[in-house]
Amino acid sequence: TTTTGVGADDAAHPGPGPRPGPPVARVRGHHRSFGTLQVLRSVDLDVAPGEFVALLGRSGCGKSTLLRSLAHLDPVPAGEVEVTGRSAVAFQEPRLLPWRSVHENVALALLNGEQRAHRHELAAATLREVGLEEKAQMWPRQLSGGQAQRASLARALVSNPDLLLLDEPFSALDALTRIEMHQLVIQLWRRHAMAVLIVTHDVDEALALADRVVVLDGGRVADTWSVDLPRSERTPEHPEIAP
Ligand code: ADP
Ligand code: MG
Repeated sequence: TTTTGVGADDAAHPGPGPRPGPPVARVRGHHRSFGTLQVLRSVDLDVAPGEFVALLGRSGCGKSTLLRSLAHLDPVPAGEVEVTGRSAVAFQEPRLLPWRSVHENVALALLNGEQRAHRHELAAATLREVGLEEKAQMWPRQLSGGQAQRASLARALVSNPDLLLLDEPFSALDALTRIEMHQLVIQLWRRHAMAVLIVTHDVDEALALADRVVVLDGGRVADTWSVDLPRSERTPEHPEIAP
């Protein structure tokens, strides 16, 4: 099993960080209303290839609505939201299919793609990466909350996305498990050289993970903070990642 803290991982994988080139996601003047409720008034946001962005805001401010637009889960006005390359999503509730094994849940994500023929090897490799190889043949209900969230991450990662969208994925977990998950997500981000956009209402989580924190308020991007501190100095070192 992998036993690295964020610090050790920093050394082993210097990591991509934001790279030059066209953004993987580009949002301009994006607006969404539900009836008379204007949720997103005019949102502008770019995510660079390899960048780790946290979208921070209080509950109900429209974070999930924006993430659903980025994930193409909802129809959006033409020209307002462009995502280039592959994107994949993980939610706060793992949403695993209860009547399929953990392995099947991950492999199914490739059923309609180019990698269909390799889905079983890729699912096994991805479950190994998130530390769940020993749980592959179990049912989702046999997993702990943290393990289910690892499976959900594996299902998103198996398609090798350019942009990973995470909607409050760790909010329901206890504090120590959340630190383990932070370390895991940083490791995966580095290895896959993908961009990550994580939605959270937790300032500490945003500052622990992201290169850049985008604050959503009043239906707009109200503020942007860049975080320059090395990740190894941001969160307490957890002794082991033991799934
Ligand atoms: P957040 O994720 O920041 O907590 P959401 O994006 O889920 O906020 O919701 C923003 C606002 O839009 C809330 O007031 C919510 O009730 C409303 N809303 C979200 N989805 C819908 C929907 N499908 N129909 C009606 N109202 C919605
Ligand atoms: Mg939400």
